[in-house]
Amino acid sequence: MALRPDEFYDHAVAAADAERRLPLARMTGWDISPFEPDGLRVAPLRPPVLPEPARHGEDPSDCDACRGRDDGIWLDDRWRLTRIAGVGVPLVLMLHPRDHHDLADLPDELAAELGVLTVHIARHVQALPNIVRAHVHRIGDGGAHLHVWFFARPEGMAQLYGSWMVVWDDLLPEYPGDVAEADAAAVVDALVASYGGRRPDGGEPRGT
Ligand SMILES: [Zn+2]
Repeated sequence: MALRPDEFYDHAVAAADAERRLPLARMTGWDISPFEPDGLRVAPLRPPVLPEPARHGEDPSDCDACRGRDDGIWLDDRWRLTRIAGVGVPLVLMLHPRDHHDLADLPDELAAELGVLTVHIARHVQALPNIVRAHVHRIGDGGAHLHVWFFARPEGMAQLYGSWMVVWDDLLPEYPGDVAEADAAAVVDALVASYGGRRPDGGEPRGT
């Protein structure tokens, strides 16, 4: 059984200093860290918050993802894909079930589709020129309606390797929106061809 919240906190804070600051370690010591250790310090560790505050959309009648069930750059009867604007990396896409589900209560049929869609979307993002990797994340601490992130890593930017990339994304200047929009359209065209589904306006893929 996992440690109780108070046990976990006591375990962690025992390694901290008098201000409850943990030492810099591991990820901040990597040479791909966006922060240099000099002058950097860890925020004081805060005690557990119990009960946890509700996530957005715990009540499906008040869920932005449900209200947006018809929105996106691609959709089929059960899934939709959106592009996140204003980011620093070349492309950030998000996959959502159109109905209200979280990951752990996804019916098996949708779970199987999620697997296939994740592979197809990652494949098409990685096929874009000058993109070398699609990082895939499901976190779920902010919103109760399942949403899976796809982050495109620009080729050659070896400093953006791995789990620091979401932090680099926040630090980088805004990527040109017209370029991201065109790349997202290429991913949608490829997804319609390889998996099915459609653009929300029912339009034909470009180039056909
Ligand atoms: Zn919802």
